[in-house]
Amino acid sequence: MPFVFDFDHAHPKAPMELKDLLGGKGANLAEMTSVLKLPVPPGFTLTTDACRAYMAGGWPAGLTDEVAKARTRLERAMGKTIGDPADPLLVSVRSGAKFSMPGMMDTVLNLGLNDRSVVGLARQTNDERFAYDSYRRFVSMYGRIVLDIPGAEFDEMFDAAKELAGTTSDANVPTELLKYLVSSYQGIVERHTNKPFPQDPAEQLRGAIEAVFASWNGARAVAYRDREHIAHDLGTAVNVQAMVFGNRDEKSGTGVGFTRDPTTGAKGAYGDFLVNAQGEDVVAGIRNTEPLSALERHFPKVHAELVAIFERLERHYRDMCDTEFTIEQGKLWMLQTRVGKRSGRAALRMAVDMTKEPAIALGHAEAVSRITEDHLDSVLHPQFAGSGHSVLAKGLAASPGAAVGRVYFTADDAAAAAERGEPVILVRSETSPEDVHGMLAAEGILTARGGLVSHAAVVARGWGKPAVVGAEVLRIASHSFAVGSVTVHEGDWLSLDGGAGTVVVGSLPLVAAQPTAEFTTLLRWADEIRAGHLGVRANADTGSDAANARRLGAEGIGLCRTEHMFLGEDRLPIVRRMILADTPEEETAALEELRVAQRSDFVEILAAMDGLPVTVRLLDPPLHEFLPSIHDLAIKEATTGLDAGERRLYDAARLWQEANPMLGTRGVRLGVLKPGLYAMQVRALMEAAHDRVRAGGHPVIEIMIPLTVSGPELALARSWVEAAVAAAGASSKKPAKQAAGARAGRLEVSIGTMVETPRAALRAAELAESAEFFSFGTNDLTQMTFGFSRDDVEGRMMSAYLELGLLPRNPFEVVDADGVGELIRIAVERGRAARPGLKIGVCGEHGGDPTSIGTFYDAGLDYVSCSPFRVPVARLAAAQAVLAAGHYTGPANKAEAQKKAPAAKRAGGVTKGLNGKAKTDKARATPGANGSRAGAPRTKRTSAAR
Ligand code: ADP
Ligand code: MG
Ligand code: MG
Repeated sequence: MPFVFDFDHAHPKAPMELKDLLGGKGANLAEMTSVLKLPVPPGFTLTTDACRAYMAGGWPAGLTDEVAKARTRLERAMGKTIGDPADPLLVSVRSGAKFSMPGMMDTVLNLGLNDRSVVGLARQTNDERFAYDSYRRFVSMYGRIVLDIPGAEFDEMFDAAKELAGTTSDANVPTELLKYLVSSYQGIVERHTNKPFPQDPAEQLRGAIEAVFASWNGARAVAYRDREHIAHDLGTAVNVQAMVFGNRDEKSGTGVGFTRDPTTGAKGAYGDFLVNAQGEDVVAGIRNTEPLSALERHFPKVHAELVAIFERLERHYRDMCDTEFTIEQGKLWMLQTRVGKRSGRAALRMAVDMTKEPAIALGHAEAVSRITEDHLDSVLHPQFAGSGHSVLAKGLAASPGAAVGRVYFTADDAAAAAERGEPVILVRSETSPEDVHGMLAAEGILTARGGLVSHAAVVARGWGKPAVVGAEVLRIASHSFAVGSVTVHEGDWLSLDGGAGTVVVGSLPLVAAQPTAEFTTLLRWADEIRAGHLGVRANADTGSDAANARRLGAEGIGLCRTEHMFLGEDRLPIVRRMILADTPEEETAALEELRVAQRSDFVEILAAMDGLPVTVRLLDPPLHEFLPSIHDLAIKEATTGLDAGERRLYDAARLWQEANPMLGTRGVRLGVLKPGLYAMQVRALMEAAHDRVRAGGHPVIEIMIPLTVSGPELALARSWVEAAVAAAGASSKKPAKQAAGARAGRLEVSIGTMVETPRAALRAAELAESAEFFSFGTNDLTQMTFGFSRDDVEGRMMSAYLELGLLPRNPFEVVDADGVGELIRIAVERGRAARPGLKIGVCGEHGGDPTSIGTFYDAGLDYVSCSPFRVPVARLAAAQAVLAAGHYTGPANKAEAQKKAPAAKRAGGVTKGLNGKAKTDKARATPGANGSRAGAPRTKRTSAAR
């Protein structure tokens, strides 16, 4: 396989499909050249194979020769020779990896100029000024990118020259000064490298190619790949292309164009351009650009041609494209295109619009595949209202969302300010586990150092807290920080956008996210795709959470934690009375009080989720969580002394103290020690259910027993639950019927267990004997599978493990598909073998993570459950998992959908479909709902999610 391909090489496949080999830029340049026949300056691509070979063993044998031959072909095509002193051909050397990595890999323009060819260029173009301006640009670019010389040294010299010439405009620097600049730039190079600036074009070319290869492993490129989870071994391609010149004269220019607006998604060409300018001038922000409408005024013919090209590109790629173009003396050249990046809002709008445009005819499934978690997130997080704020500093966009607060510089100060009720932005050079309380108290976090997997970034993302990290321009003192001449003091207002990485002085107004019509439409399509395959529920403990979850599309509650109901100020004393009870009578009395309190909580939740399943988990945490801190009481005892009540609490707290509470008396083990507790909870729940039935509701109840490890243990716990259900049923069934008559729905109760220990997963068959459903508690299952105590491990060692590559992802964020996933697959298989039709879900935090959702679907789960605000993301990811597995058999596109069953499609509402029992049963019956579909589709989905 050759290392080098010309842009017009006849590949056996469409070049745009060859991004692995040619890189994104090279693949699309070849597509534009050989398929679309657009005006593209000729050139050739060194493949990613060449880069990988280079990384493995240095400059590959034979590459020099291949490059030389490709160069000769290019020179022949152009009728010019690189380095020719009379009429030189100039080239650009451009990096381009499979995934676009904006601004991280560098490009060298005007290569081939030297002290002799610059004279030829001047004579040939009859424009000495142009020639020396190009040479000046080349020497500085080559110096900065290839020879690693700080760009500021060249910039300062250029600024000085402009000052000398009494101008602020690049275009007004006179030729003589440009000549002088060239030699001064060469002086800088010589000072840094102890060698003269390379004059031999072959040496220049080799240097530039090597620099592109090397930039693949540059710090920023590595950080970007870490963040985007792009493999580090892909390598980059290198494109060598004949130069065209937007800086020739006033009939020339350069620009970037989008086939539609990448911010709003509005139809119609959108872009910026500059007259008489080269390449990076447009994005560098040095000169003020003009909109494409101005291009229409200056060069109407070129504008029309460009718009026509945009339309072809959209039809061809069936998506919004971004482009780079250059006009040389009135002739248009296309320098780049790719499917363009877009804001979340634009992504949603374009996906929906394109299903309606016959030229593109996007199918619903395709539209859903094009939306990412980030797109949804960005329209759900609060954002800066308006635009055009003056940005003080930019850092890495570590955790999305906008935050506004007053600046504090230590975790203690931040926590204290938050205590006073101030919104806080915590500003640190970097954070460590000692800062966690301050981070928790802050609205947003800003650090000057650290990358996207730094402590601050990892922790902030884990909490969904906006964060900007690695804002290196910040100079942080003890009670202030400075950026250039601006100083921000402790207590000053600061705004940051963790999705854009921007920091703005002052308090910007924020707007709550307003889901657009397209948002609703796309999620409805997602629901249609996953209907009958993978359900989405929410974890909710209160009526208002449940109502919110339902509004966001949850199809039930997968986890209702009853302990939260015990921690309220009014409840805690009762719980403590129960724990402290000396006699069974005292214990019963306390349980009675709790029952009354719980009953009303349950009524609210069941009402909010009427008609949908609600999984109630019986009490799970260790009892000592309900007792006061031993530490505080010990201090009090030693200082002011304890009163009688405090003395009892202290004794009880010490009694229940455990060395390792996470592995101690929790979950069903607590139930075994205090069986009255679970009976009480079930009674409260059943009473609430009967209340609901009386009110005409239809409660669907699933009672879940936590932390079981064996069949006998679960059978025992189940017997209490059944007894309590029966008792409650007997006492309230009749009145229910009388009150609500025939309208009253049936009461459906099922009993199941959480699977959250490795033993439970392995012994799933015996658990299934006593369980109608399983729900994987993947937080605990992950802790116990790895032997990682989450609270200790996440703050302290996780970022080191991720940085060293010891773990591919934080397993508390993305479920470990290999280890924990294996246990899940085993449990699904054994559980369903023992009880066909066993309903299985997941209720850990992983239930809201797209990659994990794919793992769960592939393992054969029926539903995922996640926090309410993650429900939209889970609906999308569930649909994408179904698509990736090839299980969606619906119509491929909208036109087809209308042909097939127009009426049925409109009538069959999603909610109905997903709630209906028939659908769920169908999912269960899906053959190979376990191991057989595991694994394989994972790669597909990952790239779709990106
Ligand atoms: P990036 O990946 O950062 O966009 P590019 O390889 O696209 O880098 O190059 C940056 C800029 O250089 C482009 O916007 C384009 O305007 C200019 N450029 C690259 N190659 C050429 C060329 N052959 N002729 C003229 N300008 C070029
Ligand atoms: Mg580019
Ligand atoms: Mg648990």
